[in-house]
Amino acid sequence: MIKFDILTIFPEIFNALDESILKKAQEQELINIEVTNIRDYSLDKHCNVDDYPYGGGAGMVMKPGPIFRAVEAVQTDKAKVLFMSPQGKTFDQEMAKKLATKEHLIILCGRYEGIDERIRQELIDEEVSIGDYVLTGGEFPAMVLVDAIARMVPSVLGTKASAIEDSFYNGILDYPHYTRPSVFRSLEVPKVLLSGNHQKIAQWRKKKSLKRTLLRRPDLFKNVELTEGERSILNE
Ligand code: SAM
Repeated sequence: MIKFDILTIFPEIFNALDESILKKAQEQELINIEVTNIRDYSLDKHCNVDDYPYGGGAGMVMKPGPIFRAVEAVQTDKAKVLFMSPQGKTFDQEMAKKLATKEHLIILCGRYEGIDERIRQELIDEEVSIGDYVLTGGEFPAMVLVDAIARMVPSVLGTKASAIEDSFYNGILDYPHYTRPSVFRSLEVPKVLLSGNHQKIAQWRKKKSLKRTLLRRPDLFKNVELTEGERSILNE
């Protein structure tokens, strides 16, 4: 069981996590998602969580008080505190696999111009970015993290889907998929997939994965150790 504690000023956004596979994973107690409204930790009568930046400039900054109190309220010995931030390490499948082995993740979502720097200094274990662009808040990035990490938790995907053959899991891209009908608007499913020959199907899929990776993401081969056979497929 992995526990996600999400700290945000827009808790309703996370209702989207209560659907499909993630909903089932919560019902089966494989994952637990708790969402905390940072405003509940404001001592101010208007529940303010932001203030003007020292030194001037545009925008507002999230105040340290409510965030310190919110983190302290959910903190445990096992917790790793993540801050969603465009300045963080770029999230990828390897990070998802690693974070899925943790027991407790506290995920802080920023808004406005970001958070008071003292929060970074004292509370954050790791900053995580979902890419080199800036969003209005950390809520969507946090949902990306929770979804990708939850898929890596054993049994979450059940038997119907497997993460092992998905893109990136073993370093390369997934192979093409087809379903019924075998002919659609005169477009045919490759014959080998209808052959029932599992060995040939596996070879065809491996070849397609390798070729597709070579075409679309050759950079991925930097981190993959290929067998002699796989190397010769790439040279075909
Ligand atoms: N001034 C900040 C900067 O340039 O680093 C950006 C603030 S952004 C408008 C507000 C919040 O959105 C951030 O504090 C962060 O939590 C979240 N955010 C924006 N882009 C993100 C990204 N690419 N990955 C993760 N979180 C992001």
